[in-house]
Amino acid sequence: MGAVAQRLRDGSGGLNGNGAGQSCRLTVLGATGSIGQSTLDLVARNPEAFEVVAVTAQCHVQELAEIARRTQAKLAVIGDETMLGALRDALSGSGVRVAAGADALVDAAREPADCVMAAIVGAAGIRPTFAAVEQGRRIALANKECLVSAGDVFTAEVKRCGAELLPVDSEHSAAFQALAGADADAIEKIVLTASGGPFRTWSMDQLAAATPEQALKHPNWSMGSKVTIDSATLMNKGLELIEAFHLFPVGVDALDCVVHPQSIVHCLVSYKDGSVLAQLAPPDMRTPIAVALAWPRRMAAPTEKLDLARLGSLTFEAPDEVRFPALRVAKAALRRGETAPAVLNAANEIAVAAFLQKRLAFLDIARLVEETIDAAEKVGAIAPARCLEDILSIDAAARRLAAEQLARYDAP
Ligand code: NAD
Ligand code: MG
Repeated sequence: MGAVAQRLRDGSGGLNGNGAGQSCRLTVLGATGSIGQSTLDLVARNPEAFEVVAVTAQCHVQELAEIARRTQAKLAVIGDETMLGALRDALSGSGVRVAAGADALVDAAREPADCVMAAIVGAAGIRPTFAAVEQGRRIALANKECLVSAGDVFTAEVKRCGAELLPVDSEHSAAFQALAGADADAIEKIVLTASGGPFRTWSMDQLAAATPEQALKHPNWSMGSKVTIDSATLMNKGLELIEAFHLFPVGVDALDCVVHPQSIVHCLVSYKDGSVLAQLAPPDMRTPIAVALAWPRRMAAPTEKLDLARLGSLTFEAPDEVRFPALRVAKAALRRGETAPAVLNAANEIAVAAFLQKRLAFLDIARLVEETIDAAEKVGAIAPARCLEDILSIDAAARRLAAEQLARYDAP
């Protein structure tokens, strides 16, 4: 717990991340994604402040090549090895080095840089992010799976390597700002907000028939498809509670969430003296990304300015764990501890992919995840993890168990 790097509390680091007043050498893992593009938008608006080192993507080769040319990156890496030739062709004459494959993504994370934006989606981001941690970098962490699946192993590695961890997930960025380095014993509660997603007011019958197209229409946020589906099931909030547990120096009982449909307040920190500090901002990921890139300073972000009078009201309600059982399942995994959150995450990745392919009904996402955790418990796969390899092998085992469960479901 409490992994947000100590160095931040003494005010070191910042936009000029190498501390010498020069530009920040930045690597963007997952550069073609929603977070990657928002990051590069900020970079483009602050050309003197950043120097792009490496950019990566899984399969969008033309987009990656265009990003590499535009940012004058030194290295472009595509995860899908079959696309190396296409990437080489697209970047010929540009001077950008190219590479492909899972190991090349890890090498990209090791390139000399001041800051690494970890914005690969899913457990696929774990190995590259660990590699950046090993180099003692500042990590702007969007990839929540590192904390959900690898939790204590990840935070121990951050500490061991002297890396700096800055949360990019909006609620955790908000908590980080509202905590402002407070002592653990001063904190009463950390409450993350959830928009409630597109199905906040839907009945069980409506949820049973919810389609991917409907689930992908998030009312407030524009995000990649995986996290958008997780927002519709509220699994995202469950993953975020696990994330918060590993980032901040509080126990499970001091973590909670509340539904706030306007997505203006991102987190509330209650102190023992009765004060509650909240962070507010319009729902635009460029704000938390800017916080992570510039910390402890601030940089401009071209976001809409908050106008409370125009908004009129901010509302809050308790989450409904009957209609949104994923939240209950995730909370149980957090309390179970050990590798339960890694199994939860892997099973959820399988379930969300199946839902997007119309092989699984919306309400069966949480069911499949819960069944996979039960199956993992039975075979002794929920156990302490000592190292990254333990995590990766549990992740693979959980995917196999989830696939076995999935075979028992009829397509909706
Ligand atoms: P996205 O789907 O838009 O982009 C994902 C990026 O990862 C792409 O560049 C893609 O090429 C790359 N990628 C996908 N699969 C890969 C693989 N197997 N190996 C290597 N690279 C791969 O995702 P996103 O919405 O930008 O989310 C990125 C991460 O940030 C996720 O962990 C998500 O939970 C987290 N996050 C996102 C938001 C948001 O607003 N989008 C908010 C909070 C947290
Ligand atoms: Mg979030």
